[in-house]
Amino acid sequence: MKLILLGAPGAGKGTVANMLSEIDGSVQISTGDILRAAVKEGTELGKKAEGFMKAGDLVPDELIMGIMKERLKEDDCKNGYLLDGFPRTIPQAEQLQAMLEEMGEKLDAVVNLDVPRDVILDRLTTRRTCTSCNAIYNVKSKPPKVEGVCDECGGEVVQRDDETEEAISSRLDVYNEKTAPLAGFYEKEGMLMTVNATSSDAVVAAIKDKCGLAA
Ligand code: ADP
Ligand code: ZN
Repeated sequence: MKLILLGAPGAGKGTVANMLSEIDGSVQISTGDILRAAVKEGTELGKKAEGFMKAGDLVPDELIMGIMKERLKEDDCKNGYLLDGFPRTIPQAEQLQAMLEEMGEKLDAVVNLDVPRDVILDRLTTRRTCTSCNAIYNVKSKPPKVEGVCDECGGEVVQRDDETEEAISSRLDVYNEKTAPLAGFYEKEGMLMTVNATSSDAVVAAIKDKCGLAA
């Protein structure tokens, strides 16, 4: 599968990408995970991105395009990829299109995960993330077996820096202003598939159906 997962923060892009990746081996590519790893390691990229991320702002397009140009050329992309959190602006979408054309590749679909704002707010304030493997937990619906410890890898499970109420509200505003217009962009291209994403299982079922993958 070659998909773009579109949707507000907390819509479940990461969860859905994880589930899909287990089905057919497509690799999940999350620009947020790549950036957080760079910040943690203190690389040049990390230093440039950190301030934007903490504030809930977008990282400049040219930094993101630099990352993705390299990432999409890696070997593991041959089995397909699930783009989670990219593209996030119209210029990123346009540049991605040019890149794919150059590589002779075509996406299967752009999946728009649609979730009501109150559900999003509740999910984001209760979300916890493993700092080592990026596994996602939720204090209410899916807590780790031992508090603060990742079930998968034993890493530390924390609330992200950008998941304070203030940063969340800013991320949602940025989403509405900069990223939501991508739905119209891909609709025009005839690639958009909008799904009710209150349940991630239902989203995965709809995508499998669309991509002709048996249950
Ligand atoms: P979420 O989807 O939950 O908001 P992500 O993990 O996708 O979070 O991204 C976290 C932060 O990383 C964003 O708030 C933004 O600062 C930065 N970021 C991630 N992807 C992009 C992108 N494609 N363009 C610009 N900034 C990005
Ligand atoms: Zn982990």
